Amino acid sequence: MSQVEQYEKCPKQYELQRVLGVRQRPAAWFHQGTAVHAAVEEYEVSGRALDASEAVAVFSENYSRGVRADLAAEPNLDRWMTAGGAAGRSDIESRYALGMDQTRAYVEWAEEHQPSIWKGEGGELGIEKHLTAEIGGVTVQGYVDQLVNQPDNSVRVRDVKTGTTRSAFQLQTYTVLVRKALSLKVNDADWYMAKNGKLSRPIDLKEVAEADIAHRFVEADHGINAGSFPARPGFHCRFCSVSHACNAEKKRPLRK
Ligand code: SF4
Repeated sequence: MSQVEQYEKCPKQYELQRVLGVRQRPAAWFHQGTAVHAAVEEYEVSGRALDASEAVAVFSENYSRGVRADLAAEPNLDRWMTAGGAAGRSDIESRYALGMDQTRAYVEWAEEHQPSIWKGEGGELGIEKHLTAEIGGVTVQGYVDQLVNQPDNSVRVRDVKTGTTRSAFQLQTYTVLVRKALSLKVNDADWYMAKNGKLSRPIDLKEVAEADIAHRFVEADHGINAGSFPARPGFHCRFCSVSHACNAEKKRPLRK
């Protein structure tokens, strides 16, 4: 989630995590997501020279390393965040299997559809592209998962999703970043949904301009600089990685 969206959802969570540096409770879903992204990146950067089993090995290595590090820091699996009441150990195992399937499915999908990844003049690929630009006077940066060439010489922003949460604001922001930082034409964006190995329908972003999103960055920036971090408890507290340091919501009980 973007920092702006996190601040809007719960400023207290933003403060605990990003200002005070409270250690976050681990979650296997985090490592599943980052490891799938790492495998997709390495596969694409190789020019799709890796086969599915090699890409899965990249996932496996990244996932195992991340989980091992979190287990060392937090060996009590009852303190790990899971979805749907799953036990920590089985969640780690099932997300390992899920991430391997998602990686394999991406390779199969890319081999079938052969999306054309944008390449800069210096040969750099539009994969996990780090971009920085001013939006509404606020310095904004982001990593764009993929920039895909389109027949009309524009690029499409593509976000790889291993979970279900989709943010149109994120794609709007990436679109403005790409236009400003790379001077490329962007008309639309989509999500590659790893849960079903398919693309979403593209979102038309031709009319999205900096002014349409700038106010959200400006308001969040003002609040953060003013030290305004009120708690906004709600359903999202169930998935809050710093809830153990928050007094606003009843602490999530540990499983026995
Ligand atoms: S537990 Fe809820 S209210 Fe507290 S920081 Fe987390 S999201 Fe915000």
